[in-house]
Parts: sequence; C-alpha cells; structure tokens
Amino acid sequence: MHEADVIRLAQSARLRPELLLGIGDDAAILQPPAGKLVWTVDTLVENTHFLRAMPADAVGWKSLAVNLSDLAAMHAEPLAALLSLSLPPNLPESWTQDFFRGFHAACAHYRVDLAGGDTVRSQELQISVSLLGSSDRPIDRFGARAGDVLVVTGCFGGAAAGLACWQRGLQAPGLLERHLRPRPRLAEARLLAQVASRLAMLDTSDGLARSLQLLCQANRLGCEIDGERIPIQPELADWADSHQQRQWVLDGGEDYELLAALPAEAAAQLADDPRFSVIGRLTSAPCQQIIFADQQLSLEGQNWGFQHF
Ligand code: ADP
Ligand code: MG
Repeated sequence: MHEADVIRLAQSARLRPELLLGIGDDAAILQPPAGKLVWTVDTLVENTHFLRAMPADAVGWKSLAVNLSDLAAMHAEPLAALLSLSLPPNLPESWTQDFFRGFHAACAHYRVDLAGGDTVRSQELQISVSLLGSSDRPIDRFGARAGDVLVVTGCFGGAAAGLACWQRGLQAPGLLERHLRPRPRLAEARLLAQVASRLAMLDTSDGLARSLQLLCQANRLGCEIDGERIPIQPELADWADSHQQRQWVLDGGEDYELLAALPAEAAAQLADDPRFSVIGRLTSAPCQQIIFADQQLSLEGQNWGFQHF
C-alpha cells in the first residue's frame, strides 16, 4: 500500500463549517470558533494499547474516542483531528481500510472532521491522534472544595473485564464492546456544566482509583467514597469473584467515564438521571478512603492505574 492510498482512505466528506481546507495541502485551515480552543493528543501503540488480533475498525474508533473523552472532560466540543499513522511494511491493506472505517464512523458520530495527518513506515504500528475542540466554558480539574459531591458517569469495570475475557477466549460481547468501542461522555459533560456553576472534572481513562487520587492531589483534599455506590458493569458477576470484580472496577482502567466534583445542590438536579451516580464527597482531611461493606480501602501511597514510566 502506498502513501497516496492511505491518504485517499483518509478522505471523507466535510462535516464542520469551521474546516475551510482539509486533507490535500501542506496544512489544514480552520476558522477559529467563538470561545477558547481546547487541544489534546493521544497515541496508541500496538501491543501496549491494542493487539493486531483485535478488529481494526475498533482500533480506528477507539483512537478518536480516547481523545474525545479528554475533550468531554474539559467540557469542549470537538472540531477537527489530525492523524499520524506509523504503519509496518507487512501490514495488510485490509487492516488500514478497516481502521479508517472505524475512525470515520467515530468522526461522523461525534461530528469531527479529519483535517489532515501524516503517514510513515515504521516497524511498530502506532496511531497518534490530535484533536482540537472549543468551549465557551472549559472545565479543569482544579477549584473543587471540601464537601463537594463526587459524581461519576456510566459504570466501571467493563473495559478491563472485556479485555480479560477476550484474552481467555471467553465470549462476553457486551464487555468486549466496552473495551473496544468506548463512548466518550460529551453529552453528560454538557449536563454537568449546565447544573453546576462550579465544577472540577477529569476522565477516568487510567482507572477510577487513579482518577480519584489525581482529583484529590490537584485540589489538596481527601475523599470519602461509599464503595457500595460505585456503579458496576452489571455482567461482571457472571465472570469473576468479588475480589477480581473490585480490582476491575477500581483499577481496570479504560472505562472512559467522567469523574466530577460539584456542590451537592447542583448534583441533586441529576439525581433522577440514570447516567450519573453520586459515589462520595471530597473532604478537608487528606485521607482518600473507599468504604465497602466488607473492606475499607486507603488509596494513598499505592500506585493505581497503568503508568508507562
Ligand atoms: P507533507 O509532505 O506536506 O507532509 P503529506 O504528503 O504527508 O504532506 O500529506 C499530504 C496530505 O495528506 C496532507 O494534507 C496531509 O495532512 C494528509 N495526510 C497524510 N497522511 C494522513 C493521514 N494518515 N490521515 C489524514 N491525512 C493525512
Ligand atoms: Mg507528511
């Protein structure tokens, strides 16, 4: 497959009026939208973030979705992406075709234009996506206060369990879908920002426990989590004992949910919405605790989440 073939596969109809010039020139041109620009990049490396045996269209979907999750956590609307592909010489053409099918499906679903990129030969299969978005009110992870309620979206443990089942040759399609095709929580982020005049937020890509640690550290606060209120992916009980389930839920990672701290009155407005769960609160005491019916867990001093270095 030649570079020109890859570039041909990368092309698709323009979705956003902000993109004035896309693939085909030295660089893309965008009309800057109102508000602040919010910008992120994520790299997926074969054997670290995905395996060749996984469906390539899912790798394409996920490579955009992980960036979308970062923009969701910043309360930004995605605009356009750049895609850098490092492709090994032996890679079948069908892999690249399937990859772009999944990538473009995610672009269409979340209204993002692929504005350009780069294609190189490399021994290692790598995908790097940079995503530009904008927001009239970007939300960072700072500014939380003691007493703020901690809210999460969705449920936890599904992505790690899906990967584990797949690696053991077990058929758990619902769980595998959680691992392969994350659904970034852009709509949920908009709702959180709507109800809360003060909001701190991050995504949970590195695991719920790690995200709690990061939120506490960023705000120099502790947390008290009611472990029994953490929403668990329902099918987990079919595949593992409670110890393994707890590990997947707290430290599995790749669930791409949101963790937000906001005033209790604001969170109360989401009480009837099944997409959100209150799991605890931030405390002025520096301890980071998760209290289960049968166990009390301290998050401090432990290395949670996957860390490359
Ligand atoms: P240059 O020589 O200026 O780096 P390239 O030949 O690498 O340009 O790319 C030609 C056009 O194709 C550019 O518009 C570039 O953005 C686009 N392009 C190249 N590779 C990709 C890719 N993997 N995905 C999307 N667009 C790409
Ligand atoms: Mg180039």
